[in-house]
Amino acid sequence: NQEHLRKPEWLKIKLNTNKEYTGLKKMMREKKLHTVCEEARCPNIHECWAVRKTATFMILGDICTRACRFCAVKTGLPSELDWQEPERVAESVETMGLKHTVITAVARDDLKDGGAAVFAETVRAIRRRSPFCTIEVLPSDMKGDDDSIMTLMDAKPDIFNHNIETVRRLTKRVRAVATYDRSLSLLKRVKELSPKTPTKSSIMVGLGETKEEIIQAMDDLRAHDVDIITIGQYLQPTKKHLKVERYYHPDEFAELKEIALSKGFSHCEAGPLVRSSYHADEQVNAAAKD
Ligand code: SF4
Ligand code: SF4
Repeated sequence: NQEHLRKPEWLKIKLNTNKEYTGLKKMMREKKLHTVCEEARCPNIHECWAVRKTATFMILGDICTRACRFCAVKTGLPSELDWQEPERVAESVETMGLKHTVITAVARDDLKDGGAAVFAETVRAIRRRSPFCTIEVLPSDMKGDDDSIMTLMDAKPDIFNHNIETVRRLTKRVRAVATYDRSLSLLKRVKELSPKTPTKSSIMVGLGETKEEIIQAMDDLRAHDVDIITIGQYLQPTKKHLKVERYYHPDEFAELKEIALSKGFSHCEAGPLVRSSYHADEQVNAAAKD
């Protein structure tokens, strides 16, 4: 009875755009770049781009080899690898004067290294042009390939983020190809390779999980040494995607945050509009103080 499940007031927000934003959008088109901020029509775009000076770039093209049932990214045969993309991303980060950037990518299961080399080059290119901009990477599971993980970690990102997206029981329904355990192993492996790099993961709620299952997911992440967690409301991008089973009240998010902090996460963002990259700038600072 999805018809009866109305979007609550706290999710009805108006996109706040201005001239600066229009200019940046134009730059993205000219440089053939994709941002999650735009593609996912993220409601936080004004706050992130203009006020917080942070943005999330999606590299390795805009066509994914996987088809997760919550995700609006196109599925299909990806375009050829673009080795100029790292430099164009770095130029945009510089032009926008970003203080923090998140680099994510579609899953490139067609490539042996899953795109890790271009990913690593993007981190290095940003570092060269904007040495004070902190860089968070948010890759796919790269099929759990150890060489790919090492290639990416060799570029020394400031935060390593990889989302488990949902609780164990719902993973098969929600995600394509990725498994709950492979994602956990990846996070643990990164910690082994680089103990000082904060690791981070995210779950969406509203897909039919129970509170106990969310708490179990927190325990599983902590057991794999994950430092930071973000928890946000799942929103259905189109009618073809999974339905929202429930809208969580802001008070419930506040409670989940309390629980997460009691489990030992150094930082937790939880709220209806929280996205994996939301307030990511604060998390670097929090991690640096630890
Ligand atoms: Fe972009 Fe993330 Fe901010 Fe949304 S929360 S605007 S995706 S950086
Ligand atoms: Fe979307 Fe990532 Fe799944 Fe591809 S792997 S469909 S980009 S969530």
